[in-house]
Amino acid sequence: MSQVKKAKHVILIGFDGLGAYAIPKANMPNLKKLMEGGSHSLEARTVLPSSSAVNWASMLMGAGPTAHGFTEWGSKTPEIQPYEVTKYGLFPSIFSVIRDQNPDAKTAVVYSWEGIGPLVEKDAIDVVYHGETEELCMAKAIEIIQEKETKFMFLHLSEPDGVGHNIGHDTPEYYQELERVDAKIGQLLDAVAAAGLTDDTIIMLSADHGGVGKGHGGKSLEEIYIPWIISGPGVKVNHEVKDLIMTYDTGATIAWILGLDMPKSWRGKPVLDSFK
Ligand SMILES: [Zn+2]
Repeated sequence: MSQVKKAKHVILIGFDGLGAYAIPKANMPNLKKLMEGGSHSLEARTVLPSSSAVNWASMLMGAGPTAHGFTEWGSKTPEIQPYEVTKYGLFPSIFSVIRDQNPDAKTAVVYSWEGIGPLVEKDAIDVVYHGETEELCMAKAIEIIQEKETKFMFLHLSEPDGVGHNIGHDTPEYYQELERVDAKIGQLLDAVAAAGLTDDTIIMLSADHGGVGKGHGGKSLEEIYIPWIISGPGVKVNHEVKDLIMTYDTGATIAWILGLDMPKSWRGKPVLDSFK
């Protein structure tokens, strides 16, 4: 596993409302290239409810909602008293884990949904960028990649959730949106390659929830199953992870890749089966 530790950069791409159910049927060549070049599960699981803020928080905070306190789709403050808060004011996330243990490592969060803002420890992050559009977010993320200085970046993009709500999941329009999602994955992979960072960068891709009909938040597997994809140095190639993956394992996996200790209050586990 020593090769993993050579990764100089980790990029986590989160697509809001990208249901794992859709991926086998979708025309997503770049996403499938990432899957074939790395490890994946299409049966990673959300926490409940299968909604946005509660799941983004869990992904970044390595624990579930009754630990970190964010419990709803649009939680801006914890509805449950967190088990602990860091000096940055929230339950510990991967950002404070990095800042506290490796202060020289630069981090970034780039997001298109304003609801991400209240979930991240802004004073522990070097670049906090809220873009009004996905295009602005993509441009910022690519700029950050080109600068080659950021150890960990979380990029949140709002689609395909909007199409899921407005037109419906598992519709032709949803699959058309997934082609646009895939084009963005291609742009990011191209930017990493153009910066000469492909061999130094671990790319992770996931979602906060899937969906059914025009919504999500419920208990169907279409809402619960999220993609979990990882690719880069030290990662098994063309490998399907059969172990249970919970969304809070994402934060734990990033900490493990970067050689950092997890807070004792975290409940996520690194997805070790994805590594050589
Ligand atoms: Zn969402």
